[in-house]
Amino acid sequence: AKNGGRNRYSYFTPDLQLAAQARLQVALDLRLALAERQFELYYQPIVNLRTGGISRAEALLRWRHPQRGLLSPVDFLPFAESSGLIVEIGDWAFRQAAAQVRQWQGGLDPGFQVSVNLSPVQLRGDAALCQGWLEHVAALGLPPRSIVIELAEGILLDEAAPVVERLRALRAMGLQVALDDFGTGYSSLAHLKRFDIDFLKIDRSFVQDLVNDSGDLALCEAIIVMAHKLGLQVVAEGVETAAQCALLMAAGCDFAQGYVFAKPMPAAALDALARQGVAA
Ligand code: C2E
Ligand code: CA
Ligand code: CA
Ligand code: CA
Repeated sequence: AKNGGRNRYSYFTPDLQLAAQARLQVALDLRLALAERQFELYYQPIVNLRTGGISRAEALLRWRHPQRGLLSPVDFLPFAESSGLIVEIGDWAFRQAAAQVRQWQGGLDPGFQVSVNLSPVQLRGDAALCQGWLEHVAALGLPPRSIVIELAEGILLDEAAPVVERLRALRAMGLQVALDDFGTGYSSLAHLKRFDIDFLKIDRSFVQDLVNDSGDLALCEAIIVMAHKLGLQVVAEGVETAAQCALLMAAGCDFAQGYVFAKPMPAAALDALARQGVAA
């Protein structure tokens, strides 16, 4: 601002220049990472609260960065989205998860499901992408319901119709859909009305203080009752303690996911865990 008006580039403060350079560098690194296969999927078990069994897992993206180690999506997802690279990365993730669930269906449980996170950016683009996924699922001989699409609710309602349409098309072909981070969006109830979904995932922020905050408990109970009336199953996210788990079970919650059971882990580790089963 000090140099304001001196020349036409003056609004690029040094800091903004740095930020822009960093963004560009991350985009270049992400492209390289795709080419060099530095992405991995970790899997977190989703536990059936009635049986204690694991018949579902959520695939979570990791970047094994050659210098910076194992990175979580918070470190790179915004760059992957703004650069558009999430489309290619997400396509890889979908296919990888589909291949993995096929393996688990053979070795563990023929009804095993894997959920895959999608960013709205991925559904806004080329319709051929979704078509490709359906063909991939068919080519693997997977029942379509083996895949659950997780979509965070935050931005959805403002999105153009294509996102809604693509989602509907995938679900029409038999894939299942989960509304992620429920309760944190701008218009959670409107989302429920507009989207055909199978699962509702209660956001971690409602689970965190469940034991001490009677308001949060009331919200969770109400969400579960409402979801069941709408024919949806409920997954509680970020369950970290046995006490939280007990309250959720008493409230009739169907599934839970969180550190109390297991952190996200490589596929082989989940395989071993699912064989032995987890006890809450
Ligand atoms: P999410 O879909 O809400 O995933 C749950 C996040 O909570 C994961 O973080 C998981 O590791 C973490 N978590 C699970 N249990 C607990 C717990 O008990 N306590 C706490 N504190 N955290 C728990 P992660 O793996 O870092 O992923 C962050 C977000 O990145 C995900 O949030 C999802 O929105 C996004 N993401 C992950 N994988 C993909 C992907 O393949 N594609 C896209 N588009 N987004 C992805
Ligand atoms: Ca998710
Ligand atoms: Ca979530
Ligand atoms: Ca609270």
